[in-house]
Amino acid sequence: MLVRLLWRPLPESWPEAVPQRPVGLRGLLARLREMAAAAPQRDDVERRVRRGAMQAIVREAFQQTVAAQDSEHRGPAEFADAWKARLAALLAKESVEVTGWAEITIAELDTDLGWSLYAAASRARAETIARATATPSRRRRDTDDEPTVSYEFSIAADGDGSLGRVQYAICEPCGVGLLKKISFSTEWHCCGFGTLALRELETRHPALTWYTTGQYAHARGFYERYRSGSDSPWTAQQHPCPHF
Ligand SMILES: [Zn+2]
Repeated sequence: MLVRLLWRPLPESWPEAVPQRPVGLRGLLARLREMAAAAPQRDDVERRVRRGAMQAIVREAFQQTVAAQDSEHRGPAEFADAWKARLAALLAKESVEVTGWAEITIAELDTDLGWSLYAAASRARAETIARATATPSRRRRDTDDEPTVSYEFSIAADGDGSLGRVQYAICEPCGVGLLKKISFSTEWHCCGFGTLALRELETRHPALTWYTTGQYAHARGFYERYRSGSDSPWTAQQHPCPHF
């Protein structure tokens, strides 16, 4: 939904015909598709370009906020505020340069459209985060070395596909689980998915003691916090059992 709002062409009638109060994401998606199918003959090129330019600016503010995540580590609500502040800063300029566009003059744009697009996209992000769950574990046959067995699952939200991937292996005889890799694109950092993934591992394989492979400096705080509420060490001890 976030991708659709920020990257795909907006229907002409957006946002008037889109209910601003929640109708459920499915309803909203269906409505956008209907409008996209029905609108083209009534659209006009200039308005379409201006809509696209406004969308490019909202997207630019979003991408700037994502780029700051490596140093800022903002949770969802803080992220939304920072995104809003960046959008306000861009709209306060006379003109803005955005990749893929000639210089955009702000006075020519409909800033109300920009703010309602921000509101919808920001809500879509929050809903995606709230709906995210772990998919079933799938066996990865390529990497197995008896008696260890490798699996992977995704953190995914209905309608948005995979947001990130978790790879792990278990050794039943030793009662050991090893988190090998957990990867989310930067736009989904600090959304609680790391915690969700580790909880999921413990729930799926409750008899195991869990470890992880190398921890990057930025993730150390995360493991420290998580470990305090877990029965497993979640350390990066390299050989928790002889089979890994
Ligand atoms: Zn073992």
